Amino acid sequence: MRALILREQKPVEEGPLSFASLSVPKPGPGQILVRVHACGVCHTDLHIAEGDLPLRKSPVVLGHQVVGEVAETGPGVAKPKEGERVGLFWLAWACGQCPFCRRGQENLCPKARFTGYTVDGGFSEYTLAFADFALPLPADAPPEEEAPLLCAGIVGYRALKLSGAQKGEILGLYGFGASAHLVLQAARFLGMRAFVFTRSQAHQEQARELGAEWVGSPKDRPPKPLDAAIIFAPAGWIVPEALSSTRPGGTVVLAGIHMTPIPGMPYRLLWEERVVRSVANATRADGEEFLRLAKEAGIRPEVQAFPWEEANKALLLLKRAEIRGAAVLRIAADSLGTESSCPSRKERACP
Ligand SMILES: [Zn+2]
Ligand SMILES: [Zn+2]
Repeated sequence: MRALILREQKPVEEGPLSFASLSVPKPGPGQILVRVHACGVCHTDLHIAEGDLPLRKSPVVLGHQVVGEVAETGPGVAKPKEGERVGLFWLAWACGQCPFCRRGQENLCPKARFTGYTVDGGFSEYTLAFADFALPLPADAPPEEEAPLLCAGIVGYRALKLSGAQKGEILGLYGFGASAHLVLQAARFLGMRAFVFTRSQAHQEQARELGAEWVGSPKDRPPKPLDAAIIFAPAGWIVPEALSSTRPGGTVVLAGIHMTPIPGMPYRLLWEERVVRSVANATRADGEEFLRLAKEAGIRPEVQAFPWEEANKALLLLKRAEIRGAAVLRIAADSLGTESSCPSRKERACP
């Protein structure tokens, strides 16, 4: 099979991803082989490619917003069945035994494996997954539109939950990429008011179109204090800015896996019970809840789809904040010659 691999971390300008020919993996006990239709491109992929995060295996196949169908099941797998559509997300596996797993925080499991980071991901014609960690997807949705829901959506949704924002309250969103534009739709559906902070004119316009009540730059003070804020941009200097705009008792959530250092700041910004917290990964429950909500609320990502030959270009545009909505790679999987059951194969550019 063909796969895009990362062997050596370097700036995306130098094209860190290249094609390689790998053998199709065989699903072991509890595993499934997934034939990939589309895979989202996330900021985390960028951070891994460029070395902001350490390389945990080499070479590695990136991509953790995987939409595909089950091509083969390993021993002991009752569901999903062959031919069923599944979504794979960042959490590839957790132990189920440790104190974190037992208290419903499998996202913090010290033994957790991560798709496209510690195990190979979806920038590949086929990929392996643990059946219990594959999220069922409806049979009829276009793969490019489902892919961004799987990380941008799920992790964004966890950030929204942990922000504590309630109906009628004002939620601030700092940075307006793939995740924020989905969280904005969820927040609006849940009856929250959204203020969006981004320097990009294009992103400001998009935020307005999606129902943001106010838009400005990260250094601007909003007309009313925020009840909660989520920072999507990997820029530590935004933390004191967001705290300055948040009311007493409000929470500022840091939604990224990587952030530049947070500058020193006066204690008064944190005083009055403001909370700063991070969000790490997501659980299967977050995934199931968010996919349900997305369906109910009609949350749809704006997608910029690329043929997977242009993966390095997609990463570059992501780095420059020039993607409107979410970047997705179309993965062409024909090497085994099996008939795809992809429902949109005929009418769309579905691989
Ligand atoms: Zn991600
Ligand atoms: Zn565990």
